[in-house]
Amino acid sequence: MPVDAERLSASTRQASWVRRLPKAEVHLHLEGCVPPAAVGLDDPARAGVTFDPGTGAPRFRDLAEFLGFLDRACALVTEGTQLEHIAYEITRRAASNGVGHTDVIFNPTHWPAWRTDLDGFVERLDHGFEAGEADHGVTTALCLSLTRTQPAADSAALVDWLLEARPDRVVGLSVDGNEAAAGRTGQRFAPLFTRARSAGLHTCAHAGESSGPEGVRDAVELLHVERVDHGIRAVEDPALVAKLAAEAVPLDVCPTSNVRLGVVSSLAAHPVEQLRAAGVRVSLNTDDPLLFGSSVVGEYVQCARTFGWDRSILGAVARVSIESSFATRERRRELLCDLDDHLGLAR
Ligand SMILES: [Zn+2]
Repeated sequence: MPVDAERLSASTRQASWVRRLPKAEVHLHLEGCVPPAAVGLDDPARAGVTFDPGTGAPRFRDLAEFLGFLDRACALVTEGTQLEHIAYEITRRAASNGVGHTDVIFNPTHWPAWRTDLDGFVERLDHGFEAGEADHGVTTALCLSLTRTQPAADSAALVDWLLEARPDRVVGLSVDGNEAAAGRTGQRFAPLFTRARSAGLHTCAHAGESSGPEGVRDAVELLHVERVDHGIRAVEDPALVAKLAAEAVPLDVCPTSNVRLGVVSSLAAHPVEQLRAAGVRVSLNTDDPLLFGSSVVGEYVQCARTFGWDRSILGAVARVSIESSFATRERRRELLCDLDDHLGLAR
């Protein structure tokens, strides 16, 4: 076989193995799963951004422009059937990437049509996820996310709603948004995270993306989160890296997102390998797949190529994704059994 054909065949085999690798996706925004075409934002003039000719995904200069685009796309989702479709498609894409469980983050501030009907919002998503689970066998949990820059009273009102309504589908509390614009907000959000934890909810937080290592430290020490969304700039503080490794705090890393939003200059310059090699538990995720033109399989394959990850490392990353997910204990056990079977490990 010619060298090129041999290389192609090896890479196809690897992608196929990664696709069948049982895993979870734990850092996925509902807002990043709105197809631009479905809300009329696939036209550059109307969207105010350019599009990648290869993937059809929009291009963003920075996090601020990206968040502005999200707001405009989500504001155009006004019908329950649109939400059901978005939710169903999340499970379909997950299944095609070998993802057995997904934690989906939703931030009510991005959905103006639903701000006064969060119960209805979650109910319509629930219908879509239920149908998707029946058809594709993928389980889905929701995390309600607060915004770093929103007034304290608005964050408190959202947590009030969550703790009173307690929809079965919503199992966690998160916080996201532009940390660089918000400054250090750990003290402000800490009481809300304590309330959520006391009520039996899971917790995670965006940090170490637009903030430096101090944001990651605040998420761990003030919000006491179970896992950190991104967290990659922890790498700038060796003591913090050692702490994350020692305390087994998982980071749900999104390499393509970080490259696309300019957090790192290239995948080769991404600190995920440095963090992993230092003993930090990392999973790979897409963040906003429809806006970045990314996929879970693509994240694993590209990291494997860039950092020379073998199957045991890819399996370990998949294991972190399942163990750090907010799936039920039973579902996590099922997926871990599937993973061990795939890796040929006896239990
Ligand atoms: Zn994110």
